[in-house]
Amino acid sequence: MCIETMFGNTHPSQRPFRPWILLSLWVLMGWTLLASRLLSTAAETERPADFVRLDHVIPDIVLDLKYATADNFTGQVVAGYETPACWITRAAANALVKVQEELRPMGLSLMVFDAFRPQKAVDFFVAWSLKPDETATIKARYYPKLAKKDLFPQGFISEKSGHTRGSAVDLTLCSLSNDTPPQPLDMGAPFDFFGEASATFFPELSGQQRSNRLLLKTLMEKNGFKPYTVEWWHFTLRDEPYPETYFDFLLAP
Ligand SMILES: [Zn+2]
Repeated sequence: MCIETMFGNTHPSQRPFRPWILLSLWVLMGWTLLASRLLSTAAETERPADFVRLDHVIPDIVLDLKYATADNFTGQVVAGYETPACWITRAAANALVKVQEELRPMGLSLMVFDAFRPQKAVDFFVAWSLKPDETATIKARYYPKLAKKDLFPQGFISEKSGHTRGSAVDLTLCSLSNDTPPQPLDMGAPFDFFGEASATFFPELSGQQRSNRLLLKTLMEKNGFKPYTVEWWHFTLRDEPYPETYFDFLLAP
């Protein structure tokens, strides 16, 4: 049976879309997407003027850029972090200014683990997850209940990260003090722990750990960020200026 006889003698306005029209639309959309992708790729390695150094905007913020050291789940300095600097969009930095202003009277500060993350670093994570070799101490600390090969398929590591759009940030709370090393508050699971204990509302937290996580979440949400409920430390600016663009510029000082 052909399409025409299936639908009978209908008025032209009532006729369904022909398959070839749909196919043409798909082809057109495909070319449009490809063209925009190629155009945006050319721009991705350039740092836009509205990216700022977070420590220049908030001089008393505490930076603990884990990927610029070997103290992270790969056990190595991550590609792209050889010259560490904490870049972020101005919109996200301005929102963090307000969070920090609320924390100071409590004797607390934000402690940032990561903000803008170049695409080459994300690629490095994927490549790391696909290599079979692993270190027992790193596995015990970051993914004790999972096999390394499952981190990628289970979504703990992926080919795209909101961090490369410049308005996502990984952070915790710490003491605000000039003369002692800032002490991070107890959140019940370390940054980048791949497991259920990282979920914001993990039920086995102590009362103090729960209230620490809630304080961070409440202040971040109040000032324009949305939380990610499977990672207590990860927040994305609600109105991010580059929702579709993944950057790969150098973390220049
Ligand atoms: Zn994150």
